[in-house]
Amino acid sequence: MKKGDIAIIVFLIMVALGGSVYLFLKGNQGGTKYVVITHDQKVVQRIKITDDYSSSYTFKEGDDYNIVKIEKGKVWIEEANCNNQVCVFENPIDKVGQAIVCLPHKLIVEIQGDEERNIDIISE
Ligand SMILES: [Zn+2]
Repeated sequence: MKKGDIAIIVFLIMVALGGSVYLFLKGNQGGTKYVVITHDQKVVQRIKITDDYSSSYTFKEGDDYNIVKIEKGKVWIEEANCNNQVCVFENPIDKVGQAIVCLPHKLIVEIQGDEERNIDIISE
């Protein structure tokens, strides 16, 4: 395992922890939801989702690709050419704070709510 991989794993654990804290505090509120697609810690796409919105977004980086499907408020990765296919087998996500991660492609598909997520929310 390379040094960079460890940094990504630590980052992902933080994202996951932040997400569960957020979920715990906010519950499943009915506000506006966005799919936020992050590659290598940079946001590459932000899509507003509603229950009757269907779309797909193809992430491409060189030969790497992930096809993100959005349907009836649920989001999943339909297809990818990563070496472990973990992201493809993830269950669809539909709640704020949930995320699907493609570690080989450094891709995070996350559902965020209206307000910017603030990890410091716990100190309020
Ligand atoms: Zn993957």
